[in-house]
This record gives sequence, structure tokens and C-alpha cells, in this order.
Amino acid sequence: MKIADKKAVAIEFTLKDDKGEVIETSVGKDPLWFLQGLGNLVPGLEKALEGRGAGETVDVTLPPADAYGDRDEKEVRKVPLRRFKAPRVQVGGRYQVQLDDGLRVVSVKSVSGDYALVDGNHPLAGRTLHFLVKIVEVRDATGEELEHGHVHGPEGHGHGHHHH
Ligand code: ZN
Repeated sequence: MKIADKKAVAIEFTLKDDKGEVIETSVGKDPLWFLQGLGNLVPGLEKALEGRGAGETVDVTLPPADAYGDRDEKEVRKVPLRRFKAPRVQVGGRYQVQLDDGLRVVSVKSVSGDYALVDGNHPLAGRTLHFLVKIVEVRDATGEELEHGHVHGPEGHGHGHHHH
């Protein structure tokens, strides 16, 4: 079976940056399950996997536009500490915070007085990413999986799945 929209896919992957440093890998852990065509993966990776089958290996380099987008320096801003959901705010941590444009996840760069300087960009925004992917399994998604937008079953465990 080939990867196409609405297929449930298991992959083993290693993500590296431009310098060849490993950012994240699933090697030695459970494979990552996702639903193709639902935006579970960054757009360039979905595109690179389209039409491939189990056992195939995909090696792809994605510019920011096909991965997590460009950095937006307007996302670096001062936010009152009272807007944070967390009781303590530490430099370097990632937090949910209520901003004028909604609930966002931000990284704290510094804290001064009643304010934190935060960066709302995705940590991988603006970066060229290299994915080495081995396709482990491809199957049809169930109706329930498509309704929820994620993969179910024993394979899906360990990915923060919740029933709702
Ligand atoms: Zn579910």
C-alpha cells in the first residue's frame, strides 16, 4: 500500500539541522504514527512521503517554508507575567500564555520585573531541516481516526493520545 491522503503511516525518522546535529530521532523507540494529508507532519515531509511504500527510505532537505516557516521577529515581545498559566516562569522554559491573538505556546528569553520577554516562534522556525525517514507500515485509517485526526490502537500509544 502506498502513502496517500487518509492513510495511517508509521515511520522511523531522524531529524537533523544544517550542521548535521541530530535534533530528534525515533530510532530505538516506537515508530511515529500519523495520518497523511491532515497536517500531522510539516508540509514538505508529507509531500516527500506521498506515494511511497513500506520499507522505502526517504531523505529530504526542507527549507523553512516547507517546514516550520520563517521566523517572525514580531513574535518576540514583552508579556505581563500574569498572562501566564504557570505559577512560576523560568528563563528557557516553554509556556502557554494568553496573548491578544489567543492562547499561545512561547519560549521565555528573559524575565524582568512583572514582564517576560517571550519568543512565540516555533523553535524550529527559520531553520532548514533534514529528515531521514524509513517507512515502517502503511494502512487505511479508520473512520474514528479520521474524525479525531490522529492514529488509534496500540501503535498510537505513547503519543499523548486521549479519548474524547
Ligand atoms: Zn482519539
